[in-house]
Amino acid sequence: MPDLTLWEELEMAANLCREIAAQTSGAPWRANGHNVDGPAGPVATAYQCYADAAWIAICDPGLAVPLADILERALLIREREVRAQDAGDYHAGCDGIVGEDCDCFEPAVAAAQYVLKKATGRG
Ligand SMILES: [Zn+2]
Repeated sequence: MPDLTLWEELEMAANLCREIAAQTSGAPWRANGHNVDGPAGPVATAYQCYADAAWIAICDPGLAVPLADILERALLIREREVRAQDAGDYHAGCDGIVGEDCDCFEPAVAAAQYVLKKATGRG
């Protein structure tokens, strides 16, 4: 994957969340012991422990749209409040340079980078 800006990472991750979730079986998924069940039947079996099944159920396709919305909200805030300057991307919301003294986007970017890593098989 080519080097992406953090803004491109946010956009790509949001798109991946929506695209991949749209291809999954229906939600909600529910933990049932070691199994994860969906409306149409079993989705997965977590062989290690019940908590794995519970976590998979939490991260069912129903989480994809709200997560994509969070990532896209960060992009909207960027559009409204961030301006490129010689020193970097200036964020008027905190009077800081993104990635230096502005950490406003870090949680969304961390989530986006995690989605990209998982979606590309790098993590
Ligand atoms: Zn900021």
